[in-house]
Amino acid sequence: MNNQDKNIQVVSHPFIIDDLSHLRDEKTEIASFRRHSDQICQLLFTEAIRGLEMTDFLVTTPVNIETKTQRLSDEVIVIPILRAGLAMLFGALQLLPKSKVGFVGLQRDEKTAIASEYYWKLPPIRENSVVIITDPMLATGGSLIHLLKKIAPLKPKEIRIVCVIAAPEGLAAIRQEFPEIKIFTASIDEKLNEKKYIVPGLGDYGDRYFGTV
Ligand code: URA
Repeated sequence: MNNQDKNIQVVSHPFIIDDLSHLRDEKTEIASFRRHSDQICQLLFTEAIRGLEMTDFLVTTPVNIETKTQRLSDEVIVIPILRAGLAMLFGALQLLPKSKVGFVGLQRDEKTAIASEYYWKLPPIRENSVVIITDPMLATGGSLIHLLKKIAPLKPKEIRIVCVIAAPEGLAAIRQEFPEIKIFTASIDEKLNEKKYIVPGLGDYGDRYFGTV
């Protein structure tokens, strides 16, 4: 996919490229998959929190000098889409330990790929909240669109999506309804197969991270 959408960012870094190679490899064992997943998620989040509000903060250094610094001041709410989105939470919380976490469980009908809710628990979303949704494999975009339709009317300050791999079909579907939402990914892959898996992809992210294969 020729990405000319300024709100879709394919984050590139030698660590990300290396992590993705390990994640894609069917021979990668669970411990290594987890390590590379946690690292790639932290790197993606490093980029995804760029531009959030910073507030001036005065500190005194050990050499007794008062100096002006800045600290992140936005209220961040991370919403992993269960189950695979949870795998991205561990890396995210290393960087954003104060963030609140909402959980959304959506089940995908195998035939229609339409999402239905089986779990829903979100912290209050306010005008000053920055919502970051995690879903490692942005395939059809069905679950994300379902969630976006519910939280966009609450008018948070911003909504961002972080995924590891995106399919062009899913990006196009989200774009049609939510052109302004920023999406951060390590790769835009070729397409979806007939089972709605991303190809070349890396298989089922949740199965590989949680060991349910
Ligand atoms: N979910 C996954 O885990 N993998 C895919 O390829 C698509 C959706």
